[in-house]
Amino acid sequence: MSTDTRTAAGNDLAELITDLQSRGMRVEVPIGERRSGAGPADAGMLYLDGVATTVPVSAGYVADSPYTLRSDDDGSWAVYEGSVRLADASLAPRPKYYDLTTADGIPYWKIALMHLDSMASTVLQTCAYWGNSDQCRFCGIGVTLAAGRTIAKKTPAMLAEVAVAARDLDGAVDATLTTGSTATPDRGAMYVARCGAAVKEAAGLPVQVQFEPPRDLDVIDRVADLGIDSIGIHIETFDPAVLARVAPGKARWGIEAYFAAWERAVQALGPGQVSTYVIVGMGEDPQLLIEGCKRAIDIGVYPFVVPLRPVPGSLMQDETPPSKAQMDEIYHAIAPYMALKGMSSAQVAAGCARCGACSGLHAFETGKGDLRDGRPALPLHVV
Ligand code: SF4
Repeated sequence: MSTDTRTAAGNDLAELITDLQSRGMRVEVPIGERRSGAGPADAGMLYLDGVATTVPVSAGYVADSPYTLRSDDDGSWAVYEGSVRLADASLAPRPKYYDLTTADGIPYWKIALMHLDSMASTVLQTCAYWGNSDQCRFCGIGVTLAAGRTIAKKTPAMLAEVAVAARDLDGAVDATLTTGSTATPDRGAMYVARCGAAVKEAAGLPVQVQFEPPRDLDVIDRVADLGIDSIGIHIETFDPAVLARVAPGKARWGIEAYFAAWERAVQALGPGQVSTYVIVGMGEDPQLLIEGCKRAIDIGVYPFVVPLRPVPGSLMQDETPPSKAQMDEIYHAIAPYMALKGMSSAQVAAGCARCGACSGLHAFETGKGDLRDGRPALPLHVV
């Protein structure tokens, strides 16, 4: 079979990543993969032409994807469409620290996972919304716990121990710590922040912590006082009708509560160190989403735009990701706007927006074709 060795570059790579995240990739080898939980669930983790990327590899719709991960004759890996070689692929190796256990016999991998070069953990694997009418429909936090693939509560000491190993054995460059929401007024913010402080003290890694908007915004200052580098407070969507349908617990606080929390967090940590997940593909009005993202950018919040990735066992497990066209509309509006406002993932110290692998936004942001002489080359969409 003849092979076209064309590889993706610049915007081509951004386009490829966007399509891969919408359609998935068939694999002919085992690949580092998460099946559920918060974050990049049901995802193969790899580097495409050196860019960190997560791609669906096991959901049913992946069988129809035109893309395949294949080994070349020299033993290297690449993404192919038919016989056309599109991009070099480098697979994330199994982390060495996964073979270690704590003194009381808990495997390190049940405490924290490696998401490419970030050590990631859900410090409280329970949520006040889980299992009742408030449950976020896209979330799989209880699935991993029920399957015995994690423990319900990770202590600061456990996380500190694993972080040192993740840094030394597997090159972790930061830690991303999230939590289920608690019924307390701080919604779990202080616990995840104490975990983050322990990781930072032990391993010296930059840390992002993620939590819901606390009732008392002074909590955010106390989180910052613990030395946390970045904060994620995740709105998930800027379409209020969709938020009410997919995340009723979050919708109860209202979108303005998120803006209030973000403003306080930006005051405490600086522009770009505060981020929010924005999930595309849940039936939202794209213009509301774009307007919301721009308003967030204006106050220094990085909108980490991702395609819906239906988590097995979640209430949305039978959905499919949005199309590339849906994602393109958002990326092409957001990436140039961020550039105009001087916002870049390169400024983010830690966490999902620093890593960027679950989104195509990084590739649009940093692709060689995106910026010419420092000016955005993508079309600006006026809303
Ligand atoms: S708040 Fe929603 S997304 Fe977060 S852990 Fe709870 S159910 Fe999952």
